[in-house]
Amino acid sequence: MFEITITGHFDSAHYLNGYKGRCEEVHGHRFEVLAGVRGEGLNEIGILYDFTELKAHLKEITGYLDHKPLNALPSFKDCNPSSENLAAYIYRELAARLQTPGVTLSFVEVHESPSNRVRYTP
Ligand SMILES: [Zn+2]
Repeated sequence: MFEITITGHFDSAHYLNGYKGRCEEVHGHRFEVLAGVRGEGLNEIGILYDFTELKAHLKEITGYLDHKPLNALPSFKDCNPSSENLAAYIYRELAARLQTPGVTLSFVEVHESPSNRVRYTP
């Protein structure tokens, strides 16, 4: 089994409805994103998945989130844009873009700070 990982980031503002504390106020983060793709087989040139293609997919998704008030985005009208929901959203969007048989998205992590991280796996 091989697993490759890529990273990306976006800078955005959010707040958490229903939270009692500092996070109920609008604030910003540089959200770091880590995504892992796994599979057994390598292609004819010995790679599992093209890093460049994978990063382009992630960039499309983080581009939608970058420099946005996350609570105002249609994707988060029914849920808080918590790091947990952001990780699940990015997972769904990235998984939908992977079309190579035998290659699956294993996880997405969202780091809202160097010490606060969420990992989503379905
Ligand atoms: Zn926050």
